[in-house]
Amino acid sequence: MITDILEIGEQTKLKGQVVVVGSGIAGAEIATHLARHGQDVILIESGREKFDSSIQGLNDVIFTGKRHRELNPNSYYHQYLPPELRGVSRVRQFGGTSNVWTGKWKYLQSSDFEPREWVPNSGWPIDFTDVLEHYRSAAQDYGFGDLEAEAMRPEIVKFRAKIAENGLKMSSFYWEQTPTRTAIRFGSEMRRSDNIRVILGITATELKLDDSCQRVTEVVCRSLEGKELVVEGQTVILATGAFESARLLLASDSQLPNGIGNQYDLVGRFYTDHPKHHTGTLKPDSLTEEYAHELQYAPKPRFCVCFALDDATQEKYKLLEHVLYLKPIYERTRDRLWRVLRGGSPVRDNNGVIAAYRVKFVTEQVPQKSSCLKLATELDALGQRKLEVDWNFTEQDHYSIAKTLELLTHRFAEAKLGRFQFGDKPPKLENMTDAAHQMGTTRMGNSLQEGVVDTDCKVFGTENLYVASSAVFPTGPSYSPTFTILALARRLGQHLLQKTLVNQ
Ligand SMILES: Cc1cc2nc3c(=O)[nH]c(=O)nc-3n(C[C@H](O)[C@H](O)[C@H](O)COP(=O)(O)OP(=O)(O)OC[C@H]3O[C@@H](n4cnc5c(N)ncnc54)[C@H](O)[C@@H]3O)c2cc1C
Repeated sequence: MITDILEIGEQTKLKGQVVVVGSGIAGAEIATHLARHGQDVILIESGREKFDSSIQGLNDVIFTGKRHRELNPNSYYHQYLPPELRGVSRVRQFGGTSNVWTGKWKYLQSSDFEPREWVPNSGWPIDFTDVLEHYRSAAQDYGFGDLEAEAMRPEIVKFRAKIAENGLKMSSFYWEQTPTRTAIRFGSEMRRSDNIRVILGITATELKLDDSCQRVTEVVCRSLEGKELVVEGQTVILATGAFESARLLLASDSQLPNGIGNQYDLVGRFYTDHPKHHTGTLKPDSLTEEYAHELQYAPKPRFCVCFALDDATQEKYKLLEHVLYLKPIYERTRDRLWRVLRGGSPVRDNNGVIAAYRVKFVTEQVPQKSSCLKLATELDALGQRKLEVDWNFTEQDHYSIAKTLELLTHRFAEAKLGRFQFGDKPPKLENMTDAAHQMGTTRMGNSLQEGVVDTDCKVFGTENLYVASSAVFPTGPSYSPTFTILALARRLGQHLLQKTLVNQ
């Protein structure tokens, strides 16, 4: 059942077994999974079926460090989106940010979970094998191509071996034809299901605890129209993205002065994103020409590849993982005349003759405590404290980008992949934007001194509060977090069902 808070009448209290807050990919996945297994689920969503800019305004933050990209109706980037959504990094609407995302699915690599001695605070307390079965089952259910089989395809193995000679590595991602929109994917199931009640247009503003301060007993919610609702459940899951999950924990400070899960001042800390630069080009050389078909962006669905310096080089120079994507730019008449005059031979793929490749350069950043979110004194339209976002970087971040670019430039030329052209704006943090990949604000750790959630994504110090979001990523080296968000949501769903069975 899907109900808007305005249709709910005078009711001010709802009770279910599980309360999920947020209907993005994480929330919709876990809510439907639990409901299919007989759990009585209430899903609270701030947004409505249609985009509403006053609800979106609840996402407004105060930047005190590096700013995010800005809303820009004229942006050439994300032209496929309606103007009011071009440039937003998070969306408050039924279906969350999946309403605007581009649908590239990528596994984290096994090495991404390992601590790297030269990257402070790196590594996860779980490893790749803890997530693999959930990547696989999600891929099957959502109908993605098989990324593991793709990595073993002979052309890819050969391409990988060729660039390995030059200290480069390569990985594949799957690009959906139509990006998963969770409101569409799960909407009719949610409407039909007797086990899910979705309440739209209502925002969770505080979590109330029992006398021991270890159990969340109530999720207090409010709407912009002045409605109030208290939702009770045995288990509460925050699937509100990395910003709002931290905000809700910090704002729940009426019983615990620092907020929930924040005994060691870790909530909102270690905030990372993937700064990106997408205005450079690559003039292709013979190896790119040979593998042009592997670099096509259309038609979708398809697999594509991206590049990075190999692990040995990263270790040798103490570098972070920076990933490079190449997107074909097809020849126009003017380019063609110019090429014919110069006597150059055409580089082709199935879609046409390629003039150059657009270079998207995406960076990892060092997870550090001072890059953080805090509650501000300024209030939003619901009277909640806004977030103050201090997104900042270390010397190692600056060094790593510069050194990686230097090495990639040489190695791309040596491998005959091509030559970069960055003009007067080469990738530097000053001219890079966020990638809409907020991570780390409720990081996973082995103990409450190390993290906000444990390896089951349960908030330390609580018995029944969980986080399903990239908020739990302690490190996010590879680009594209959403497959891992989905796999972790599945893993949490399985864990909660097993726990229920044990307790029955
Ligand atoms: C333009 C764009 C392109 C992208 N492309 C890719 C890509 O190709 N590949 C990739 O891996 N990632 C991509 N991303 C990132 C990806 O969209 C996110 O990682 C993913 O959607 C996050 O899902 P989520 O469920 O964790 O959070 P969200 O989808 O943000 O869901 C959170 C939900 O919680 C709701 N909410 C928040 N606070 C409250 C509250 N207090 N009470 C009630 N409800 C609340 C929100 O309204 C929202 O619906 C892209 C992002 C953007 C913006």
